[in-house]
Amino acid sequence: MRCLRMERNLFFRYNIKMAKETLPVGRQVAVSGVQPSGDIHIGNYLGAIKQFVELQNKYKTFFFIVDLHALTENPDPKKLREQTINLAALYIACGLNPKKTTLFIQSHVPAHAELGWILNTITPLGELQRMTQFKDKSEKHGVLAGLLNYPTLMAADILLYQPDIVPVGEDQVQHVELTRTLARKFNSKYGETFKEPKVLLQKEVARVMGLDDPTKKMSKSAGLNNYIALTDAPDVIRKKIKTAVTDSGSEIIYNTEAKPGISNLLSIYSAFSGETISKLESKYKDKKYGEFKSDLAELLVQKLSPIQEKYKSLLKNKKSLMKILDAGAKAANKVAEKTMKEVREKIGLI
Ligand code: ATP
Ligand code: MG
Repeated sequence: MRCLRMERNLFFRYNIKMAKETLPVGRQVAVSGVQPSGDIHIGNYLGAIKQFVELQNKYKTFFFIVDLHALTENPDPKKLREQTINLAALYIACGLNPKKTTLFIQSHVPAHAELGWILNTITPLGELQRMTQFKDKSEKHGVLAGLLNYPTLMAADILLYQPDIVPVGEDQVQHVELTRTLARKFNSKYGETFKEPKVLLQKEVARVMGLDDPTKKMSKSAGLNNYIALTDAPDVIRKKIKTAVTDSGSEIIYNTEAKPGISNLLSIYSAFSGETISKLESKYKDKKYGEFKSDLAELLVQKLSPIQEKYKSLLKNKKSLMKILDAGAKAANKVAEKTMKEVREKIGLI
């Protein structure tokens, strides 16, 4: 009950749309990105990428690989290059169609960094210091200015394309809310320039939890046993699900407070199978954790294998991936430059 109330407040406060609401027809704009900071996992897929794929049919969409954001973790350059191309292949393998969506690398559109800087100049330091991601990540990586300024760069990523909605996982809601605040602030200081976008959340899987710690969100940076990567081999998937933390007792029921581990696995099962959680609860009534987990592992192997095959085949032709990304950057630069022209003029840059 408490969870439900908290959730309702969150949705009210942050102007969030639910993915299952009827989406408006027409060419509204949707924008989002994923960091090439490690293995892309089922949390990224369910919370973000799966929504991107659905949205490209109704919206004008800009989806990108946020390599400048990934720099905040000081990655090995060779690895960053590899992960950037891998993510492009994975986006397409998951169903993004470069003919329908503008797919590009963030650093290929210099306006992101430029607008990020400009937004820094109207952002109070305290707004950035209170961000949950900044607090969590600076514990791990030290207090880097890049981590602190992550949300202003993200605000630029979004506002450049004048979107109506931003599909993200729940952990990014706070950053989109700051984006809305900055858009309002800029507009009232310099005149109407930016649209204030709404967050779009895939409610049931907006926060997939870690397999090794179901009280924290699944994260690329949290270690191998924390997540199922979209590219994990069948035996790795089976092993990870088998060793996923479960709860005391033996009942397979959804209760995030008393049974965070089983509840998380039920959400994942439901999202991949399309069966409701209550149907799964009845299906596994009187069954053991072991049987439930083994069925879930097989479901994941079956659902991820077509993505993996397509991914491997796309990576055989990196030149053609680069061509797609170049064309995407060209199209994105056009739109971003239009916004920047107006911004520069309004703030007094010659
Ligand atoms: P990192 O640990 O490097 O920050 P990450 O797993 O958080 O990686 P991001 O690239 O930061 O991944 O996020 C990409 C998108 O995936 C964002 O929209 C984010 O909200 C969403 N996302 C990330 N983790 C989850 C999760 N556990 N459940 C649902 N959505 C998620
Ligand atoms: Mg993240």
